[in-house]
Amino acid sequence: MESTFVMIKPDGVRRGLIGPIITRFEQKGFTLIAMQFMHLERSLAEQHYGEHKNKPFFNELVEYLTSGPVCAMVWEGRHAVANARSIIGKTNPVEASPGTIRGDYGMDITGNIVHGSDSPESAQHEISLFFHSAMSAPMFMEISDFGHTAN
Ligand code: UDP
Repeated sequence: MESTFVMIKPDGVRRGLIGPIITRFEQKGFTLIAMQFMHLERSLAEQHYGEHKNKPFFNELVEYLTSGPVCAMVWEGRHAVANARSIIGKTNPVEASPGTIRGDYGMDITGNIVHGSDSPESAQHEISLFFHSAMSAPMFMEISDFGHTAN
């Protein structure tokens, strides 16, 4: 058995896609073993995407990731990392196949709905960061956190 880290990004939360995305993981055969709804501190977003810190899109990516709450999860299953990447789809929703999460729900490369770890090693690193670090303490959301008015 393997674990992977999956995060529904702010646009996925804003658009009410937490339920459909969780359903896809459950239907694929994964087991949910941890979940936290959280609004990321800038430092956690920067650390999570640290490998991209010299890329031109880094600042926009961090701004986006801190623009509203995310749903951080740990899913367990056989070949969890590879199976999760396969149902998530390619990074750019333009190239992601229909039937994948990004292919069905996304249009924009920055706001591409969901994150999934790219290796078992990064999964362990990301799980520690989001579930075992001081930056990841649970807190209540305010409606204003979501970046849109209540619906
Ligand atoms: N990203 C972006 N512009 C790019 C490439 C990537 O905004 O040109 C964002 C996108 O949200 C992506 C994240 O950076 O999910 C991390 O990129 P990576 O190449 O690690 O893709 P992933 O593993 O998420 O498919």
